[in-house]
Amino acid sequence: MSRITDEYVKMQKICRPNIDASHRCIFRCPQCIRQKISSQEQIKRSFDLEEHNFKKILDYYDYGITFCGQISDPIYHPKFLNLLKMCNGEKKAVRIATVGSGKSNAWWDEAYSYGVGENAWYFGVDGIDKKSELYRIGSNFDDVWERMKQGRDLGHVIVWQYIIFGYNEHEVDRAIEIAREENFSLLFINTNRGFEPKTVSLRPNVDFKLTKPDKKYQAERLKTEWWGHGTAIFKHWRGVGTKNSIGNTMLIGGNRVGPNRLWEQESSEKEFKRNKRELGPDWYYYNKKIKYKFNSNGFRAPELHTIDWANSVVVLGDSYTMGDGNPIEDIATSLLQDMLGMPVINLGISGTGIDRSCWNSLILHEGYQHPRAVVQLWSSMHRYAESDEENKLGGYKHYSPSRKGFCPKHNWSERNKMYVLADRVLWKDKLPYYEASVFDVTAEELEVDYLSHLDLGRDLKHWGRESNIAAAETIATNLKKQGL
Ligand code: SF4
Repeated sequence: MSRITDEYVKMQKICRPNIDASHRCIFRCPQCIRQKISSQEQIKRSFDLEEHNFKKILDYYDYGITFCGQISDPIYHPKFLNLLKMCNGEKKAVRIATVGSGKSNAWWDEAYSYGVGENAWYFGVDGIDKKSELYRIGSNFDDVWERMKQGRDLGHVIVWQYIIFGYNEHEVDRAIEIAREENFSLLFINTNRGFEPKTVSLRPNVDFKLTKPDKKYQAERLKTEWWGHGTAIFKHWRGVGTKNSIGNTMLIGGNRVGPNRLWEQESSEKEFKRNKRELGPDWYYYNKKIKYKFNSNGFRAPELHTIDWANSVVVLGDSYTMGDGNPIEDIATSLLQDMLGMPVINLGISGTGIDRSCWNSLILHEGYQHPRAVVQLWSSMHRYAESDEENKLGGYKHYSPSRKGFCPKHNWSERNKMYVLADRVLWKDKLPYYEASVFDVTAEELEVDYLSHLDLGRDLKHWGRESNIAAAETIATNLKKQGL
């Protein structure tokens, strides 16, 4: 029984609850339950969610929350900025559904300063122009549109939510074009919530000018939703907040090292000091300061939502790619970026095997704009990954023959070969694609270039600067040969 309870609690924690944070709204959408006579008592009884109670909700739910009012617009909660501030940096997906009108510049500047990459703003704009105000009574279309663009330019996920009515159904195709031009995701809603202005349940004086759309845009019940356009940044955000999609739609590095690690995974300051004594002041790394700065997804790369994938080269691999033992300016991906004159995105993960590189490659293929070129620096044939239940961001544990817990039963070498063959099907002959390995056995088995050690990094294990330069030169030459 306790196992069932535990399982139930676990399942609850991965839900994203919808919070009606208050009873406040300044708009008068005719189909809203605020306009029903029967809702007036409920509105009177309601109150503003207090911060200390919100904290409990936020702490309890692992993957995020939704602010989508039934009788309120969340941004009109008097402390809504504080609630956003509390969510900031929690690495949870926060959805805010709002009309988005009527707030000051200062309010938006602060609101958008929180949760970049974590928050998705859903704006209720039912039309491509001021006709939207026919439903969103009391709103200002121009104001809302500017707020959507402001959020987009600051790196937020912006979703344009468009209910289809008689007055806007002929503009659905144009809306899709605009969404593509503006880089907004566009969610259409077919509704059948009630088009009878004289119904007795409506409050008197409701300004009801809506007409039904064509049958194809009407829902059989209350509403159905369909996407007119989905941006890469939105798809990425959706991956953050869905347990089942973690590892499926989001690139996860999981270099478990914090934002500014100073030492390699398996080295220490003590070891470095010993090496210094032995190698003396002529050693390249004698006075080298190395900091490992990782983005929120655990990659030594910019935040993923800021990347112009279509104009970048992506390099996948293990700690050699990540650049263990080297400052950022000396690693192969940084040097390659200078050589090619275009962004090079480092998706290296310390300790990882070929399987993880291929999973991330598949996620890249399916969920992001395809890059200019893909480079695979294959790891050892014998490594493999297993998901780490304790890691909330969907991290993995990596196993190799020398590590405790390695399972020798399966033939990892054969499995990894299959992964590689699949990866080649994804990319090869479609864009410049280059493969190599620093592991001689891997290079031989996969019949790819072997990028050997010419020198060693600060940890005396991984590539040093000269090896990184040679690797970058080889990669650049091969990509250019393929027309990059
Ligand atoms: S903005 Fe939302 S809560 Fe306010 S009237 Fe419209 S539908 Fe109702």
